[in-house]
Amino acid sequence: MIQLIKGFKDILPEEISLWQEIEAAAREMFENFGYREIRLPIVEKSELFARSIGDTTDIVEKEMYTFDDGRRGLVTLRPEATASVVRSYIQHKMAAEDPIRKFYTIGPMFRRERPQKGRYRQFYQIDAEVFGIASPLIDAQIILMLVSLFERLEVTDVSAHINCLGCPTCRPFFQKALYSLLEAKKDALCENCVRRSEKNPLRTLDCKVPSCREALAEAPSILDFLCSDCKTHFDTVKQLLDKQNIHYQVDRHLVRGLDYYTRTAFEILTTSLGAQNAVAGGGRYDGLVQALGGPSVPAIGFAIGFDRLAEILSQTRTAAAKRPKIYMAPLGETCRTLAFEWACALNLSGVPTEMDFEDRNLKHHMKRADKFHAAHALIFGDNELTQGHAVLRNMETREQKEIPIVNLVTHIINLIR
Ligand code: AMP
Repeated sequence: MIQLIKGFKDILPEEISLWQEIEAAAREMFENFGYREIRLPIVEKSELFARSIGDTTDIVEKEMYTFDDGRRGLVTLRPEATASVVRSYIQHKMAAEDPIRKFYTIGPMFRRERPQKGRYRQFYQIDAEVFGIASPLIDAQIILMLVSLFERLEVTDVSAHINCLGCPTCRPFFQKALYSLLEAKKDALCENCVRRSEKNPLRTLDCKVPSCREALAEAPSILDFLCSDCKTHFDTVKQLLDKQNIHYQVDRHLVRGLDYYTRTAFEILTTSLGAQNAVAGGGRYDGLVQALGGPSVPAIGFAIGFDRLAEILSQTRTAAAKRPKIYMAPLGETCRTLAFEWACALNLSGVPTEMDFEDRNLKHHMKRADKFHAAHALIFGDNELTQGHAVLRNMETREQKEIPIVNLVTHIINLIR
């Protein structure tokens, strides 16, 4: 038997109502804040990700699904959405008309990571991005929107962590200080961190290897190196969040796995998923639009791990399966044909109706109706037809009522809806 590939998964009908509930809540929240949906291709030129996410990140170094598409060169299954949103923003010259744009997009991402609970090779993200606003007001608002979405969904076991990653003016000073420490602690670092020390020292702060964590516990924080503009920006974000009663912790060592972040960076962490504790992450990326060939436009965004959020919610919620309102229980060939016509008409009129497509006896029909948790069964054989009515049985109370055959669909619609 052919099985699915490790790290990939099926989202089964039993789980889907939870996914739909999350998606509906996200859409409603984002639309109320003025975000508009954008749908983008799953495959992009590899260069887009190499240039935006960064050559020395885990994603670009070893996690991308890349293949040679002949004349089109190397293409990659998108590992995240921001790069594509930025590409689209630039390509469609959106800034020319109005640089301020707010988007959201929901869909699958692909990373060739080591699969484990909460970490998949195809996973889904709910992504929101804002372009054209440099003010810290939007940083605070996007964090408020994200935290409020979790509250609406009644996810309690989460906390917001924030940090400021500086800008091209102040970050080099921090990188230098960090680099000195990395040099001194070289022997304690993993291979990856040694290699990254030179090219991308910030990423070492994100390393999960215990010896690296220990060696870098006393690492300097970027917060001690911020230029006055970055400091004012971060202070304002914090004050705005305080005013809105949004709880957060300042995490002095928080960095993000992608290179393009500047200033505000944030993550939503949970304790209910074991090792994979991040449910959402995001931040400001003021230089990315320009770095990818667009105008100089500031931007900020986040991505929620849809699978992880669904997993958290499934721990406390049982998904209610969709129940049919009517189960057709025809007895005999003539009645079955009639049941088919009525079932189609009821389905089209918005009354969920099921039927057995084979000829069955009453006992079988009742068993199936119970299995479907149907609210009612409509029972009729040749006798009922000659008498001009069918029997509508309430499957819970067992109460029965006669429904005229003439205009039966209309009678049922009036009774049920
Ligand atoms: P990132 O794009 O790496 O900032 O990730 C944003 C969010 O996506 C994370 O906080 C996770 O919740 C989720 N995520 C990232 N990678 C995976 C993965 N391999 N499997 C499941 N969820 C993931």
